[in-house]
Amino acid sequence: MNAIAIIGGGITGTAAADALAREGHAVTLIEKSGIAAMASGRTLGGVRQSGRHPAELPLAQAAVELWGGLADVLGTDVDYRRSGNLRLARTPAEIEIVRDLVHAQRAQGLDLVFLPDNAAVRAVAPALSNRVLAASYCATDGHADPVKATNAFAQSARRHGATIREGVRALAIQIVNDRVAGVLTAAGSIPAERVIVAAGVDTPALLAPLGLHLPLSMQVVSVVQSEPLPPTLDQVFGVANADCAGRQEVGGRLRFTDGGSSEPAWTNEPSANAVRAVVERVANVLPVAGAATVSRTWTGLVDLTPDALPVIDMPARVAGLIVAAGFSGHGFCLGPVSGLLCADLAVGRTPRHDVAAFQLARFERGPLAATSPTLHG
Ligand SMILES: Cc1cc2nc3c(=O)[nH]c(=O)nc-3n(C[C@H](O)[C@H](O)[C@H](O)COP(=O)(O)OP(=O)(O)OC[C@H]3O[C@@H](n4cnc5c(N)ncnc54)[C@H](O)[C@@H]3O)c2cc1C
Repeated sequence: MNAIAIIGGGITGTAAADALAREGHAVTLIEKSGIAAMASGRTLGGVRQSGRHPAELPLAQAAVELWGGLADVLGTDVDYRRSGNLRLARTPAEIEIVRDLVHAQRAQGLDLVFLPDNAAVRAVAPALSNRVLAASYCATDGHADPVKATNAFAQSARRHGATIREGVRALAIQIVNDRVAGVLTAAGSIPAERVIVAAGVDTPALLAPLGLHLPLSMQVVSVVQSEPLPPTLDQVFGVANADCAGRQEVGGRLRFTDGGSSEPAWTNEPSANAVRAVVERVANVLPVAGAATVSRTWTGLVDLTPDALPVIDMPARVAGLIVAAGFSGHGFCLGPVSGLLCADLAVGRTPRHDVAAFQLARFERGPLAATSPTLHG
């Protein structure tokens, strides 16, 4: 049995806590605010394999399998629906982007189909507008409730013996003889032989004092939620250039996002202009969104890495340290798998999926081409 500290109560940290507590380890998770306070509580909640980088696709496919059984495993309904994902084309140029995506992902073994015209798209999703020219369709993608799912992992971890401390901020990772020894918090020290850092956008600040560089840029995404509507849309939709995405929640509310922007300062509320712009963009493909009453708006932060792939790694320089961050707008779906991978690394097992593409050291090997978030739901 190892003493393991986890920093961060998002879906990555809580899923890791649950996996490790089930194995009988002494797990303490600390969260500076509350469970699901950051990206995991603010996300669109898409659970998709389509549009994934080839290195991420096997993780997303495994995650979709896990999502199917999560309510039973965690003992709580998480509103998971395997009801499909559409990536929409609105211009002739976007048709080619979507067609290429389908071609590439079918070659990787994903059952993604090309819907070549508006009639084919609306046969799948009648609520979409006649301005949509084509789409990709992955029937096995879907969505879930982010707050319910993250809390379900946290509650299950607790039931399996984990200690979860909310309102406790990690100030520093303690090192003795190049090994982690614990976490210093405002409420004292937590001794640990392993420390998992799953602190989202705050991860670089925790790693920097250890000489580890995680180059994250923060993207601010505006999110709009409507009053409940009658059942209108089963699928999650994104668009070819990722400037908006949306879905209808199980309770009937529409939830949609813009594509994010690199604002110099972050506020919890999007500007009125940002809300107007995203409503207009979404209404262009889903007309009912234009007439829906807005109930709530908020912003979320995306922890974007230079190659838009996460770090899931045990860096050699600091024994006992595991990093799981930089999910670049894709980490909600991956949560159940990321948690298991953290557990594998923490107990010294060979990770159950190939994590070579997710090493932190890749950022030391020279500059990577800049990328932008691809929020497709
Ligand atoms: C608007 C939006 C839409 C998105 N849409 C999708 C989608 O459709 N599908 C998808 O798969 N992904 C999506 N994502 C991405 C996904 O939500 C994230 O990748 C995922 O939630 C990341 O989870 P996490 O646990 O790694 O990080 P987070 O949820 O950010 O959790 C990190 C936690 O660490 C805590 N913390 C930070 N520093 C400290 C500290 N020093 N001490 C203690 N605690 C600390 C924070 O308070 C936070 O709760 C979206 C993201 C956003 C913002």
